[in-house]
Amino acid sequence: MWRRAGPIRLHLAAIAGRRIRPPPQPPTPQATFSSSASSSSSFHHNLGAFRDSIGARSRSLSNQTGGSGDGECWSCGAKGVFLSCGSCRSVQPVDPAVDYFRIFGLDRGYNIKDNNLEGKYKDWQKKLHPDLVHSKSEKERAFAAEQSALVIDAYRTLSKPLPRALYLLQLEGIHVDEEKTINDQELLMEMMEIRESVSDSSDSQTLEKIQSQMKRKVETWSNSFQEAFDKGDFDRAVEATQRMRYYERAMEETVKKL
Ligand SMILES: [Zn+2]
Repeated sequence: MWRRAGPIRLHLAAIAGRRIRPPPQPPTPQATFSSSASSSSSFHHNLGAFRDSIGARSRSLSNQTGGSGDGECWSCGAKGVFLSCGSCRSVQPVDPAVDYFRIFGLDRGYNIKDNNLEGKYKDWQKKLHPDLVHSKSEKERAFAAEQSALVIDAYRTLSKPLPRALYLLQLEGIHVDEEKTINDQELLMEMMEIRESVSDSSDSQTLEKIQSQMKRKVETWSNSFQEAFDKGDFDRAVEATQRMRYYERAMEETVKKL
């Protein structure tokens, strides 16, 4: 993925997922690699998709006016219904009061290990699948399309630690500014070194080693997030999500090269 054609300035932003000013020292260290046009555009594309999904979440959260999540089925009147009615199988309109955790029958929290998220996701999608609702009214088909998109978003958000952490913070009313730079020279230097090692490694063994190091770092910060979040220390929780993002980006770089 990296072209080695010429020495171009290190793209820290790409690894961190945000804009970062290089350290104020003499000319920014010259890296022996650069991001190629294609990797850069795919990075922006991915970031865009991630932002879109955050945007979708903000919208659904900001719509939280009323609605207890204990809806009544519009068709048969059954209580406590959302997504699809258990009694008459009618697809329900999106209820913004139902958060992603509830969709999967989970308590709101960071640790959702061993909860068969994928299985529950597939079950919902089966119930909302266009082939199954094609005989239903136009209204219900529209509900199903909306619900299906919501379930996909919910699954993508909860199945990965970083989006899950950001979503939990958002439910607490904390918006993490992804453009905010981390002013930690030590971390930035570490990132630069990692990136350089990735670039210099040509054998998969070394890359795998770096990858597992990054994985451990993400796990460490993931644990820090949980600890801070559970204590209500949201400043530290936010910081942990930023570190997770840095190390995840670094991990993605090794994946691209492997
Ligand atoms: Zn019903």
